[in-house]
Amino acid sequence: MAKATTTIKQVLNYQPAHVAWFAVNQVLFNQVAAFYFDVIQAHINVLDHSSKEALTILEQLTHTTKSNPTPVMPLSDMAEDVPAYFRRAAIHAALGCAHAFYAHLEKWRQRKEKARTQGKKFYERPPVPPRSWNKAVTLYQGMWKERTSSSLMIKVWTGTCWSWIKVRITGRALPAGRELGSPQLVQKGKQWWLHTPVEKLFQSPGNIEKQVTTNPGTKICAVDLNINEHIAVCTIQTVEGTILATKFIGGGNEISGFRKCQLGRIARNRSQTGIIAEGEQDNVDLWKKIRQVDEQAAHLISARIVQFARQHEATIVVFEHLGNLRPARGKYSRRGNTKRAYWMKGRIFTYAKYKAYTMGMVTSRVSPRNTSRECACCRSLIARYDTGKPAEGYTPGAPLAFCFQCGMKGNADRNASLVIGQRLRARYHPKEKPQALRRVSKDTGVALSQDAKCEEGPSILLAGHGESNEHGTAQDGVFRMDEHASDIPHQLRFPFEL
Ligand SMILES: [Zn+2]
Repeated sequence: MAKATTTIKQVLNYQPAHVAWFAVNQVLFNQVAAFYFDVIQAHINVLDHSSKEALTILEQLTHTTKSNPTPVMPLSDMAEDVPAYFRRAAIHAALGCAHAFYAHLEKWRQRKEKARTQGKKFYERPPVPPRSWNKAVTLYQGMWKERTSSSLMIKVWTGTCWSWIKVRITGRALPAGRELGSPQLVQKGKQWWLHTPVEKLFQSPGNIEKQVTTNPGTKICAVDLNINEHIAVCTIQTVEGTILATKFIGGGNEISGFRKCQLGRIARNRSQTGIIAEGEQDNVDLWKKIRQVDEQAAHLISARIVQFARQHEATIVVFEHLGNLRPARGKYSRRGNTKRAYWMKGRIFTYAKYKAYTMGMVTSRVSPRNTSRECACCRSLIARYDTGKPAEGYTPGAPLAFCFQCGMKGNADRNASLVIGQRLRARYHPKEKPQALRRVSKDTGVALSQDAKCEEGPSILLAGHGESNEHGTAQDGVFRMDEHASDIPHQLRFPFEL
């Protein structure tokens, strides 16, 4: 069984006086966590134990009881009467931090050692332990009770005593039938929130290799992310290469237009104000707007990709690696816009990955090399051109593709998406022989072509397009994107959904 955790964030309603208590409570939590971080640093072997054992050891070192009257570093020197579950939550926070810190330190040492053996100079600074602590309080069982859909009792430090207070919960409801984790009290701006991790158990989807090689019914959703109007183009393919569905997710121009407009306003504001003070954020509201729209779009698009994959029962979602950011030339707004569109591609992948996982799908990435320049049918280099222009040359970002070798004609982004899916399959079928005849699916209604040009297979194979994608793999699951010289308007060929 596999496990996926999502966090449900809910707004808390409380009396105005409680705000100060929440703050004091969090300060105390961080003081205790920082104290335990020091204890761990003084007893570094603790980290070799499991977290349960480490907890026992740390309590023995710090907690005064009848059987343990004189601990080495008593917690009572710093804070009196800390409830056991508050203390344990703080210990786990400190342990988590310590594990992360020492793992970073170890990696830094390895890099330093490597540089030394290679005779190179090493300038990188070592990681430092946290200087300040600002962790949200985790409420273990015993620190909260009587949770209903609209309220909760929590125990907080008021600065003078421990007190149970009742808070109201509004916002998103907890999904039914899920395992609830320990909630956290989180401050965002002036508002306090309750974050509750929710666990979902599901049948593990199994690794990609196993799925692709053992189950011919496996469906792959291949996604091509762009920075033009069609932000994402997804195709569903079987492991044998039949194309079952295509989806274009648009809206790119709207997002990019909005972003460019805001960046332009920032640039104009800056030219009026002149020099900006160092370390000070200018145009706070405009930046916030841009961030929010980007964030929202990334969530929406990733959700739609995953939705589409699920709808067609795909179990693998494949993207291409991001490749390098090609800086755009032009005004500040244009350069900044391209950069942000590129960042958004990364964010869409990150979000789609976790969203897919909670639905039992696994995500992978393939080499981005020439994905949009290669023909999905025969691997030759394609021409990419704008509507109404002759089918020649390669115009990056242009919507149409044409293959001189096999006559494939279609949408360039869809072609790229097909190539991405093929690369994933080719990774696990590296020795499959090129097929002479083209297979065709009835579902897609793609016509079978007996064209001599198509049967002779690839005559132009690209040298080394990606490490895991070898010669002879190109014909794995061939198909035709479209009929020759079809005069069906291009818009009608694919199910445009947006
Ligand atoms: Zn071709």
